[in-house]
Amino acid sequence: MKHQHERPCARAAARVAAVLALLATVVGMACRPPDAAAPPAPAGVTLPAGAAEAADTIAAGDLLRDVTAISSDDMEGRLPGSAGDRRARTYLASRLAELGLEPAFGRDGWEQPVPIVGVTSRLPETWSFRAPGGGRVAFRLGDEYTGASGVQQPSVSIDGAEVVFVGYGIQAPEEGWDDFKGADLAGKVLLMLNDDPDWDEGLFGGERKLSYGRWTYKYESAARQGAAAAIIIHTTPSAGYPWPVVRTGWSGQQFELAAGDEPRTKLRAWLTEDAARRLVALAGHNLDTLVESARSPGFAPVALGVTTSLRFGVELETGATANVGGILRGADPRLAGELVVITAHHDHFGVGQPDETGDAIYNGALDNGVAMAQALAVARAFTAMPSPPRRSLLVLFPAAEEQGILGSAFFVRSRAFQPGRIAADINFELGNVWGRTRDVTVFGKGKSELDELLATLAADQGRVLVEEPDVRAGWFYRSDQISFARAGVPAIWFKSGTDFIGRPAGWGEAQYAAWIERHYHQPSDEVDPSWNLDGLVQDARLAFLLAATVANRDAMPVWLPGDEFEDERLASLATLQWKL
Ligand SMILES: [Zn+2]
Repeated sequence: MKHQHERPCARAAARVAAVLALLATVVGMACRPPDAAAPPAPAGVTLPAGAAEAADTIAAGDLLRDVTAISSDDMEGRLPGSAGDRRARTYLASRLAELGLEPAFGRDGWEQPVPIVGVTSRLPETWSFRAPGGGRVAFRLGDEYTGASGVQQPSVSIDGAEVVFVGYGIQAPEEGWDDFKGADLAGKVLLMLNDDPDWDEGLFGGERKLSYGRWTYKYESAARQGAAAAIIIHTTPSAGYPWPVVRTGWSGQQFELAAGDEPRTKLRAWLTEDAARRLVALAGHNLDTLVESARSPGFAPVALGVTTSLRFGVELETGATANVGGILRGADPRLAGELVVITAHHDHFGVGQPDETGDAIYNGALDNGVAMAQALAVARAFTAMPSPPRRSLLVLFPAAEEQGILGSAFFVRSRAFQPGRIAADINFELGNVWGRTRDVTVFGKGKSELDELLATLAADQGRVLVEEPDVRAGWFYRSDQISFARAGVPAIWFKSGTDFIGRPAGWGEAQYAAWIERHYHQPSDEVDPSWNLDGLVQDARLAFLLAATVANRDAMPVWLPGDEFEDERLASLATLQWKL
């Protein structure tokens, strides 16, 4: 969906102005192959032969050439399904071919077609609810409620469905948490709290927002219960953004993947906190009391007795885009069947509202041109090694990330490659065009063994890992790495932090903030001659060294014990064993 406000691109940069993050642990120092000058590499990080030299071939000039091409006006902003989108995909495939990679998708070649559907929901101006005694409340579209069809059908109707308050709407066996307690919720309208429990360090990562706290999870959770609709109660702290952001984000056409056989609710809705307060009051309840009761693992759903009916039309428009991918075969006959994946989404917003200079092409140079250039640079470094690492490399450019992380979700769902055979995903999103830093921001730091490997490799660059500035915002769940994580694949997204070499404190935050202010999702997000690409080079080298290390180790990386994605990983690995 077009929740531009939530794209990592925006929020991460917008937030850096706020807090400088904590220093991370530096696990070890040297990571180059032992020689007379270097101390021995710590356990777990052994670079493949020639990797250090191959990393040094990553150069600013190559990055600039690719980002210039991919964000040129000729690409028309790369809107999914557009002619510019097709040209950009062709450019990426030709670059992968030039580098000597093989097409990743068998008979489909370099591209994996991704069917998408544009959904425009014509919700009624008011949505009303009735109490058994005859009382009634109604909420105005935009001001008090918003939402979208959950199904790809020309019309939606909900008839006399009962509203049930279900707390957070979370089922998390590893946390000992189940808000549904076996209640029959089929056909009901589930009213739920946003976010996940955050008052206890031992529960749901404390203040950290896990996937259970994201609206995507909430609607899917309701669908698994067979609910007719789900309503999330908006509060600014729990969402991380104010109501107007919800209102604009959920209006107009929303792109989705073509529906499969997954369960869906008919309606995905939001209510303001004030509206929710009046809705539960109609049922004789107090919202604060209900919220308090939801803060306990013993919570059980509360049927409110209030019912609602709703009918609306839906306009559907089918479209087509594609993921682009190339493979470099691993050198080990056994491990070559396993992949290390590098991702960088290729889409942007196309041609739209002109800015004050009359420019209407949303070039997306920083978002996400530099990231694609970095992914290509990593591919090139792999080919510069004397022989490839043991596992195979897949360089994947997912489609339609800006529309709701669609391409990578489709890739994982397609089982073109079994998730249990994917060792890791390393994602590029946005980038640093202001020079070299002493720090590396890891979004969702502390989830997998990849952090420990990265810390060691970063230390060799003289850099330390830091957490994202606002851990409550849940950036880890907002770009392509999340599609892999949800399929159990250890995944990481990192990029330069804000501590720039030779610059005073606060300078880095100011650069990010100024860029957001002037260029984010604007036609002026173009290649700028004043850019300093040394930071991009640093980050691309680091990603390459991490990918090469993971590709060459005996064992695939693991989630840290108890991580929310650990069970999914164990399940996907167990399935594989049966197939051997
Ligand atoms: Zn982006």
